[in-house]
Amino acid sequence: MAVRVGFAAGASAWPEYQVPLARALAEVGVVAEVSTLLDDPASVDYLVVAPGGGIEDFSAFVNAKAVLSLWAGVEKIVGNATLTQPLCRMVDPDLTQGMVEYVVGNVLRHHLGLDRYIRGGTGWDQQVPPLSRERSVVILGLGALGQACAAALMALGFPVTGWSRSAKSVPGVACVSGEDGLQAALRRAEILVTLLPKTPETEGMLDARRLGWLSDGAVIINPGRGALIDDDALLAALDAGRLGHATLDVFRVEPLPASHRYWSHPRVTVTPHIAADTRAESAARVVAENIRRGEAGEPFLHLVDRALGY
Ligand code: NDP
Repeated sequence: MAVRVGFAAGASAWPEYQVPLARALAEVGVVAEVSTLLDDPASVDYLVVAPGGGIEDFSAFVNAKAVLSLWAGVEKIVGNATLTQPLCRMVDPDLTQGMVEYVVGNVLRHHLGLDRYIRGGTGWDQQVPPLSRERSVVILGLGALGQACAAALMALGFPVTGWSRSAKSVPGVACVSGEDGLQAALRRAEILVTLLPKTPETEGMLDARRLGWLSDGAVIINPGRGALIDDDALLAALDAGRLGHATLDVFRVEPLPASHRYWSHPRVTVTPHIAADTRAESAARVVAENIRRGEAGEPFLHLVDRALGY
């Protein structure tokens, strides 16, 4: 009998995913019926979701073996009390590649000091940047994305420090954890990249006190989540000229309201949550593999820990 897959990831996602998902399921040998019609929730074996997909109450999906998120960040769904099924988040190789490109591009922009030449008007004023090996980059979050960015930056010669909740050993990365580790990392950061999930523990973690640990002129690149940073504290540090720049991709409210100071601040670059999109072709393969695993009784990939929130 065909496996029934419900697709609740938003009307605009369906045309993108319909063909890749059918192909990926066939490739892993799963005979499935994928549908956006969820009129018989009890018949759904797996539910593919994304924000905007319209499901607030998961309790009717009594036979769903897993809920498969197309998004890497699951903060909008993980706390839903009606969600009792296993929840898997997205770790998509193409999304990861997108994030690596976004982070490397922005690190190099700030490392090379390209803004002054792009703005122009400084004449023949030679400001030779240091080499990458002389520029300390710190990444908060050493998960799928943090580690991939660390590898790419290290390949360019940057010394990379990474901070995570649990103690880690990642070849080439100076790994730290805990509050002391965070303080040591922030103090050495010239360029700080934040790739943490939004959880009760990480929300607002970059507050005035911790931002104060950053060295003068440090740059922040935040493609993680807007809620990681205390916006007022960041603006105060930028206003005072203490921090060099903030390149922000994610915000507490999205779209970022037109009146927000970030839009006009000379030391802020706003990108509209474009750092790394889930790509249908590769994400469909991840979804299909998890469905294959579920049917084979194998453990799911990328299971979310409800207690930790990511
Ligand atoms: P992972 O779950 O793989 O990694 C999360 C990392 O954060 C882990 O290293 C984890 O530590 C660490 N962490 C979590 N909580 C804490 C804490 N309290 N203190 C210290 N470290 C902590 O996530 P991904 O790398 O896949 O993604 C990271 C985030 O990037 C997503 O949650 C999402 O918010 C954001 N994102 C943004 C996109 C964009 O387009 N802007 C696109 C995709 C994702 P440990 O290793 O010990 O578990």
